[in-house]
Formats: sequence, C-alpha cells, structure tokens
Amino acid sequence: MNLDRSLVEGATYLELVMAAATIVSLLVVSAPYGRHARKGFGPTVPARLGWVLMESPSVLLFGAIFFTGAHRFEAVPLAFLAMWWFHYLNRAFVFPARLPPTSQPMPLLVAALGMGFNFLNSVVNAGWIGHVGQYDSTWLADPRFWLGLGMFGLGFGINHRSDMRLLALRKPVETGYKLPKGGLHEWVSSPNYLGEIVEWFGWAVATWSLSGLAFALYTVANLAPRAWQHHQWYRQKFPDYPPQRRALIPFVW
Ligand code: NDP
Repeated sequence: MNLDRSLVEGATYLELVMAAATIVSLLVVSAPYGRHARKGFGPTVPARLGWVLMESPSVLLFGAIFFTGAHRFEAVPLAFLAMWWFHYLNRAFVFPARLPPTSQPMPLLVAALGMGFNFLNSVVNAGWIGHVGQYDSTWLADPRFWLGLGMFGLGFGINHRSDMRLLALRKPVETGYKLPKGGLHEWVSSPNYLGEIVEWFGWAVATWSLSGLAFALYTVANLAPRAWQHHQWYRQKFPDYPPQRRALIPFVW
C-alpha cells in the first residue's frame, strides 16, 4: 500500500469538511446512543460489540497503513504510533470490556458511521506519520513534540479517569444514571470529553500537522454538541445539579 501526499491531503480536507458537517448535524440531532438512545435508527448491537466494531480499525487498519509506509522504522513515527496505539488499545478493547452488560444497545448505524470515520482517520493520520510526513530524530528534541506529548498524556489521564468514575457509578445490575461527583466532574458535565479534546490537540501539536489538526477539530465537532446535550439533560434530570458546573470548559462553557 503506497499512500502519496495528494491522497493523504485529499483525505485530510475531506475530514475537515466532515467536521463542519458533523457539528451542524449534531447540533440538530443528538447522536442516538447512551442516554440519548431512542427508537427510529434501525437495528442495534450490544454496546460492547458496537464499540469494538467502531474503534478497532483505529488499531488494526492504522497499524496496517503505518507498517507499509516508507517511515515505518524511524524513531519519531514509531513514537507517534506508540501514542496512537496507547489511546486506541484502550478505546477499542479495554473500555468496551469494562462496560456493564446492562449498557444501552448501540444502533448499528452509529457503529457503522464511527467505523467509516475511523477508516478515513487512519488514512489521514497513519498516512501522514508513516508515509508522507518527514520527521528526523531531531524532532525528539523539539519543544512542540514535548508540549504535544504532555498535552496528550494529560488529556488521556483526564479522559480515562473520568470514564472510570462514570463507569463506577452503576452497580453491575443497575441501568439508571446518577449524579457524578469528584475530580473534574465537579466543574464540568463531561470531563471525559474535555480530556479527549485536549489529547487530540496534543497529538496535533506533537505531529505539527494538518492531519493531526483535522482530527482534533473533528473531535470538537463530535463531542462539544454532545457535551452540551449531556449538560442540559443533567440539569433537567437532577433539580439539585450543582450550579457552578459547566458543560465542557471549567468556568467558561
Ligand atoms: P458518556 O460520558 O456518555 O458515557 C460513558 C459511560 O459512562 C457509558 O457507559 C455511560 O452509560 C456511563 N455513564 C455516563 N454518565 C453516567 C451517569 N451519570 N451515571 C451512570 N453511568 C453513566 O461517553 P460516550 O459513551 O459518549 O463516550 C465514551 C468515550 O468515548 C469517552 O471517553 C469519549 O471521549 C470517547 N469518544 C470519543 C469520540 C471522538 O470523536 N474522539 C467520539 C465518541 C466518544 P450509557 O452508555 O448507558 O449512557
């Protein structure tokens, strides 16, 4: 497989267009999974299977594209691959395994759309780091690499810790929702989304690439509307919802 610059750049522009289309559509229609699940979106699959189907291309296809690239044995691209896999091994396999069996089923449509996006995103980002981008080993001493890596690690920590707090709210047989407490949950309704966004902006800084930026912007387009919808939902369901808690950005929004 040989991905040339024009193909990777074309896929990156497509991802940017999709980010714009996604934020507009998700402001109109909430993504129908989890607490926003509802009828009318076709057949469903168990949540665990949905997550594995949706996210595993970001491990497998991403690796396949990367390892056919000319830069596959270079230090910096391999460091980027390690960051990417660190996130996606968790998202595609560990996170689904931790979901309670009572989780809301996921529409197959949501899993298929997510999978399609992850195909495109693998071309965009594995194509960039493995085939097209040029990083010699001096990039490992560049402040942008370390700043990006720091943001990536911080974002992952916030995302993972917040996901784990949310998953711990329910006992194995419970299905309802509780008021999250502790950590960044005191300040925002969706700290897991905040962490995810910080993480992918860290990726964009570390790779200093339009590919990375396209994914960070897509993540905002996908998660900011959902954070707002979660926030409104919490405020409706919990009359005692803490008034200082914002949707996504502490003290701001
Ligand atoms: P949510 O915050 O909606 O839910 C996470 C898990 O916690 C779900 O199992 C949910 O159950 C449970 N949960 C959430 N709130 C409560 C509560 N108050 N009481 C009890 N249980 C609760 O996150 P998503 O499912 O949307 O996303 C999961 C992860 O995937 C996140 O880390 C997110 O950042 C990431 N993601 C990344 C995307 C990207 O574009 N990069 C896109 C989408 C997700 P239930 O499912 O029953 O609601």
